[in-house]
Amino acid sequence: MPDLVNEISACELCRDRFARTETAHEPRPVVWFRREAKILIAGQAPGARVYASGRPFTDPSGDRLRAWLGMDEAEFYDRSRVAIVPMAFCFPGYDAKGSDLPPPTICARTWRTPVLGELSEVRLTVLVGAAAQRWHLQTSRSMTDVVRGWREHAPHVFPLPHPSWRNTRWLKANPWFELEVIPALRAQVAEVMQDG
Ligand code: SF4
Repeated sequence: MPDLVNEISACELCRDRFARTETAHEPRPVVWFRREAKILIAGQAPGARVYASGRPFTDPSGDRLRAWLGMDEAEFYDRSRVAIVPMAFCFPGYDAKGSDLPPPTICARTWRTPVLGELSEVRLTVLVGAAAQRWHLQTSRSMTDVVRGWREHAPHVFPLPHPSWRNTRWLKANPWFELEVIPALRAQVAEVMQDG
Protein backbone atom coordinates (compact mmCIF):
# COMPACT_ATOMS: atom_id res chain seq x y z
CA MET A 1 0.00 0.00 0.00
CA PRO A 2 2.69 2.59 0.81
CA ASP A 3 4.11 1.71 -2.62
CA LEU A 4 0.85 2.66 -4.28
CA VAL A 5 0.59 5.87 -2.24
CA ASN A 6 4.18 6.71 -3.18
CA GLU A 7 3.59 5.87 -6.82
CA ILE A 8 0.56 8.14 -7.06
CA SER A 9 2.32 10.89 -5.10
CA ALA A 10 5.08 10.85 -7.74
CA CYS A 11 2.67 10.80 -10.72
CA GLU A 12 3.32 13.39 -13.43
CA LEU A 13 1.03 12.11 -16.17
CA CYS A 14 -0.72 15.49 -16.42
CA ARG A 15 2.39 17.67 -16.37
CA ASP A 16 1.93 18.92 -19.94
CA ARG A 17 -1.83 19.33 -19.56
CA PHE A 18 -1.44 21.46 -16.40
CA ALA A 19 1.39 23.50 -17.95
CA ARG A 20 -1.06 24.61 -20.67
CA THR A 21 -3.62 25.95 -18.13
CA GLU A 22 -3.74 29.57 -17.02
CA THR A 23 -2.22 28.69 -13.64
CA ALA A 24 0.52 26.61 -15.34
CA HIS A 25 0.80 24.61 -12.14
CA GLU A 26 2.72 21.41 -11.58
CA PRO A 27 1.17 18.07 -10.65
CA ARG A 28 0.74 17.78 -6.89
CA PRO A 29 -1.37 14.72 -6.07
CA VAL A 30 -3.30 14.89 -2.80
CA VAL A 31 -3.28 11.23 -1.73
CA TRP A 32 -5.21 10.34 1.40
CA PHE A 33 -6.05 6.71 2.09
CA ARG A 34 -5.00 3.60 3.97
CA ARG A 35 -5.95 0.00 3.39
CA GLU A 36 -8.01 -0.32 6.60
CA ALA A 37 -10.41 2.60 5.92
CA LYS A 38 -14.12 1.87 6.46
CA ILE A 39 -15.57 4.91 4.69
CA LEU A 40 -14.65 5.99 1.17
CA ILE A 41 -15.24 9.59 0.16
CA ALA A 42 -15.17 9.56 -3.65
CA GLY A 43 -14.78 13.20 -4.60
CA GLN A 44 -14.09 15.14 -7.79
CA ALA A 45 -10.64 16.77 -7.75
CA PRO A 46 -8.80 19.12 -5.39
CA GLY A 47 -9.46 22.83 -5.78
CA ALA A 48 -6.76 25.50 -5.66
CA ARG A 49 -6.87 25.78 -1.86
CA VAL A 50 -6.42 22.06 -1.42
CA TYR A 51 -3.63 22.13 -4.01
CA ALA A 52 -1.90 24.66 -1.74
CA SER A 53 -2.57 22.84 1.55
CA GLY A 54 -1.87 19.30 0.32
CA ARG A 55 -4.75 18.07 2.49
CA PRO A 56 -8.18 17.19 1.05
CA PHE A 57 -11.25 19.35 1.66
CA THR A 58 -9.45 22.15 3.55
CA ASP A 59 -11.96 24.62 2.16
CA PRO A 60 -15.61 25.67 2.60
CA SER A 61 -16.68 22.59 0.60
CA GLY A 62 -14.98 20.47 3.24
CA ASP A 63 -16.80 22.32 6.04
CA ARG A 64 -20.13 21.62 4.38
CA LEU A 65 -19.25 17.99 3.63
CA ARG A 66 -18.18 17.35 7.24
CA ALA A 67 -21.46 18.90 8.44
CA TRP A 68 -23.42 16.62 6.10
CA LEU A 69 -21.51 13.59 7.38
CA GLY A 70 -21.82 14.64 11.03
CA MET A 71 -18.04 14.35 11.43
CA ASP A 72 -15.54 16.62 13.13
CA GLU A 73 -12.13 17.26 11.58
CA ALA A 74 -10.35 14.65 13.72
CA GLU A 75 -12.70 11.93 12.50
CA PHE A 76 -12.72 13.11 8.90
CA TYR A 77 -8.92 13.18 8.63
CA ASP A 78 -8.40 9.84 10.40
CA ARG A 79 -7.02 7.82 7.48
CA SER A 80 -7.43 4.57 9.38
CA ARG A 81 -11.19 5.11 9.09
CA VAL A 82 -11.79 7.50 6.18
CA ALA A 83 -10.23 7.27 2.69
CA ILE A 84 -10.58 10.36 0.50
CA VAL A 85 -10.06 9.32 -3.11
CA PRO A 86 -11.14 11.87 -5.74
CA MET A 87 -11.64 11.16 -9.45
CA ALA A 88 -8.37 13.02 -10.00
CA PHE A 89 -5.72 13.54 -7.34
CA CYS A 90 -4.49 16.92 -8.65
CA PHE A 91 -6.04 20.36 -9.09
CA PRO A 92 -7.03 20.45 -12.80
CA GLY A 93 -6.85 24.25 -13.28
CA TYR A 94 -9.55 26.73 -14.29
CA ASP A 95 -11.72 27.05 -17.39
CA ALA A 96 -12.37 30.36 -19.17
CA LYS A 97 -15.17 31.23 -16.71
CA GLY A 98 -12.96 30.67 -13.66
CA SER A 99 -14.57 27.37 -12.69
CA ASP A 100 -12.48 24.31 -11.96
CA LEU A 101 -11.84 22.15 -15.01
CA PRO A 102 -13.24 18.62 -14.85
CA PRO A 103 -10.97 15.96 -13.37
CA PRO A 104 -8.64 14.57 -16.07
CA THR A 105 -10.06 11.15 -16.93
CA ILE A 106 -6.59 9.66 -17.27
CA CYS A 107 -6.32 9.78 -13.48
CA ALA A 108 -9.26 7.48 -12.80
CA ARG A 109 -8.25 5.26 -15.74
CA THR A 110 -4.77 4.90 -14.30
CA TRP A 111 -5.27 4.78 -10.57
CA ARG A 112 -8.84 4.12 -9.53
CA THR A 113 -8.99 0.36 -10.00
CA PRO A 114 -5.73 -0.36 -8.10
CA VAL A 115 -6.68 2.02 -5.28
CA LEU A 116 -10.18 0.62 -4.84
CA GLY A 117 -8.73 -2.88 -4.99
CA GLU A 118 -6.70 -2.06 -1.88
CA LEU A 119 -9.68 -0.64 0.02
CA SER A 120 -11.33 -3.95 0.81
CA GLU A 121 -12.66 -2.90 4.24
CA VAL A 122 -14.92 -0.11 2.94
CA ARG A 123 -18.50 -0.36 4.21
CA LEU A 124 -19.79 3.04 3.15
CA THR A 125 -19.02 4.88 -0.08
CA VAL A 126 -19.99 8.53 -0.41
CA LEU A 127 -20.15 9.68 -4.04
CA VAL A 128 -19.55 13.42 -4.05
CA GLY A 129 -20.66 14.94 -7.33
CA ALA A 130 -21.53 13.74 -10.82
CA ALA A 131 -18.09 12.50 -11.90
CA ALA A 132 -17.83 10.03 -9.02
CA GLN A 133 -21.44 8.95 -9.53
CA ARG A 134 -20.90 8.27 -13.23
CA TRP A 135 -17.83 6.17 -12.54
CA HIS A 136 -19.02 4.20 -9.52
CA LEU A 137 -22.62 3.67 -10.58
CA GLN A 138 -21.92 3.43 -14.33
CA THR A 139 -24.77 5.82 -14.96
CA SER A 140 -25.42 8.65 -17.38
CA ARG A 141 -28.30 10.03 -15.28
CA SER A 142 -28.06 13.60 -14.03
CA MET A 143 -26.67 14.28 -10.57
CA THR A 144 -30.14 15.37 -9.40
CA ASP A 145 -31.75 12.14 -10.64
CA VAL A 146 -29.07 10.02 -9.03
CA VAL A 147 -29.28 11.82 -5.69
CA ARG A 148 -33.08 11.74 -5.78
CA GLY A 149 -32.82 7.96 -6.20
CA TRP A 150 -30.50 7.61 -3.17
CA ARG A 151 -32.61 4.82 -1.64
CA GLU A 152 -31.60 2.56 -4.56
CA HIS A 153 -28.04 2.57 -3.17
CA ALA A 154 -28.36 3.16 0.58
CA PRO A 155 -27.18 2.26 3.12
CA HIS A 156 -23.79 1.26 1.68
CA VAL A 157 -23.56 3.94 -1.03
CA PHE A 158 -24.78 7.55 -0.79
CA PRO A 159 -24.68 9.84 -3.84
CA LEU A 160 -24.43 13.53 -2.88
CA PRO A 161 -24.20 16.80 -4.80
CA HIS A 162 -20.81 18.45 -4.58
CA PRO A 163 -20.75 20.57 -1.38
CA SER A 164 -19.34 23.57 -3.26
CA TRP A 165 -20.94 26.99 -2.75
CA ARG A 166 -21.89 26.69 -6.44
CA ASN A 167 -24.55 24.19 -5.37
CA THR A 168 -26.16 26.41 -2.71
CA ARG A 169 -28.95 27.26 -5.13
CA TRP A 170 -29.44 23.53 -5.86
CA LEU A 171 -29.73 22.86 -2.12
CA LYS A 172 -32.39 25.56 -1.77
CA ALA A 173 -34.32 24.13 -4.74
CA ASN A 174 -34.14 20.58 -3.38
CA PRO A 175 -34.97 20.78 0.35
CA TRP A 176 -35.73 17.04 0.46
CA PHE A 177 -31.97 16.45 0.27
CA GLU A 178 -31.16 17.92 3.68
CA LEU A 179 -34.44 16.70 5.18
CA GLU A 180 -34.25 13.08 4.01
CA VAL A 181 -30.82 12.14 2.73
CA ILE A 182 -28.61 13.82 5.32
CA PRO A 183 -30.20 12.21 8.41
CA ALA A 184 -29.92 8.76 6.78
CA LEU A 185 -26.32 9.45 5.77
CA ARG A 186 -25.37 10.63 9.26
CA ALA A 187 -26.93 7.53 10.84
CA GLN A 188 -24.90 5.27 8.54
CA VAL A 189 -21.69 7.22 9.14
CA ALA A 190 -22.22 7.00 12.91
CA GLU A 191 -22.82 3.25 12.72
CA VAL A 192 -19.70 2.57 10.64
CA MET A 193 -17.51 4.90 12.74
CA GLN A 194 -18.74 3.28 15.95
CA ASP A 195 -17.82 -0.19 14.71
CA GLY A 196 -14.56 0.97 13.22
S1 SF4 B 1 -4.28 14.18 -11.87
FE1 SF4 B 1 -3.83 12.02 -11.50
S2 SF4 B 1 -2.96 11.28 -13.45
FE2 SF4 B 1 -2.82 13.53 -13.45
S3 SF4 B 1 -0.77 14.00 -12.62
FE3 SF4 B 1 -2.24 14.06 -10.92
S4 SF4 B 1 -2.13 11.97 -10.03
FE4 SF4 B 1 -1.26 11.87 -12.11
